[in-house]
Amino acid sequence: MFQKILIANRGEIALRVLRAAKELGIATVAVHSTADADAMHVRLADESVCIGPPPSRESYLNIHQIVAACEITGADAIHPGYGFLSENAKFAEILEAHNITFIGPKAEHIRIMGDKIEAKRTAKRLGIPVVPGSDGAISDEKEAKRIAASIGYPVIIKASAGGGGRGMKVARSEADLEIALATAKAEAGAAFGDDAVYIEKYLEKPRHIEVQIMGDGAGKAIHLGERDCSLQRRHQKVWEEANSPALNSADRDRIGMVCANAIADLGYSGAGTIEFLYENGEFYFIEMNTRLQVEHPVTEAITGLDLVHEQIRVASGGGLSLTQDEVRFNGHAIECRINAEDPKTFTPSPGTVTTFHTPGGLGIRVDSAVYSGYRIPPYYDSLIGKLIVHGRNRVECMMRLKRALDEFVVDGIKTTLPLFQELVTNPDIANGDYDIHWLEKHLAAG
Ligand code: ADP
Repeated sequence: MFQKILIANRGEIALRVLRAAKELGIATVAVHSTADADAMHVRLADESVCIGPPPSRESYLNIHQIVAACEITGADAIHPGYGFLSENAKFAEILEAHNITFIGPKAEHIRIMGDKIEAKRTAKRLGIPVVPGSDGAISDEKEAKRIAASIGYPVIIKASAGGGGRGMKVARSEADLEIALATAKAEAGAAFGDDAVYIEKYLEKPRHIEVQIMGDGAGKAIHLGERDCSLQRRHQKVWEEANSPALNSADRDRIGMVCANAIADLGYSGAGTIEFLYENGEFYFIEMNTRLQVEHPVTEAITGLDLVHEQIRVASGGGLSLTQDEVRFNGHAIECRINAEDPKTFTPSPGTVTTFHTPGGLGIRVDSAVYSGYRIPPYYDSLIGKLIVHGRNRVECMMRLKRALDEFVVDGIKTTLPLFQELVTNPDIANGDYDIHWLEKHLAAG
């Protein structure tokens, strides 16, 4: 087991990892930018190192400083959290060269899954169902037209290097294709420095369903069920739940086992998420995230498993703590991502939080690094906390969520809490009847 872990992140996820390390008796090192000197993860860690000025590229993305912090403090492993360096294959390689364990998958797997064309090819080879489309990058308009005609319109052009929903364009007919292809290529080139694009069938009303997997790196893997993350705004997840209200247990077992077997074949190590669009009873792979996800607590709530413990255990060579047969699913969980944003316009609202009072009671978990008097810096993303609610079934979970939201007080800044207060009473949400476009349509309708 590790003696000391450096946490290369900030905010709620840094705290999340710190808690797991403490429980395992592992010493912790926090790193922080000058803007985060007073942050909770810095206060609670055993040691802390300032790694640079506020902009992420000079601090939380500064590999040189982070490796130096590791060497100064003698940390033997790094947990990257999510975002920042968590899916940077080069970072994983540099750590390996310095004899520091990266708590995450092999660099090779990060690299494959970071390139969407390569990821889709790999998924297909491993028996995971994919969206019908081109086998690789599209070379010209003629090829695009030929493929679009064979899969049928509408189609979507996507950037191979894509992320964050950028570089995607829908074409509803051959007349749209030329312009969609040109704009997707231009956007991809500008955003990612790589204009390779591919084409796939555009699904009209899918749900976003993702499967949590864990591999031991030596050919064993398990799945921990799915999460439904269909409630999105601008491709950003807003509300996540486990299980998905749309799946029956046969579908759940089927897709879970497909993913676990694929991950075992790949020799994948640690936590990962395989994302699908789900429509008319079929799953279509869109991408794999090779890290812990923001929404992992809903899986923890229904399985009773600590995913960060599990990540640390696997990275230290201890293997998985349980087999597939030992995984039990219990009840229902929902997570609301609370952002420091105006709940109507979604403009960021940094500033000082004068009061921060979190709900409590049975089945309630709040993951947040905010405290009363904390000043939210304007430099980073606007997530300030996650409210995770567990109940014996979805009805109980929704009842509990409603009262937890009523108890939650954040004064001094604007937050998206009112949006959740509204969603929790909406009949479509109560019925679990929503697809990936539902929230945008709902917001547009005012
Ligand atoms: P990114 O990595 O940029 O987030 P993804 O491939 O994960 O890109 O896709 C992001 C979102 O775009 C999906 O959650 C879905 O809303 C939409 N999308 C992607 N591919 C398709 C498709 N074939 N049909 C319909 N919507 C899609």
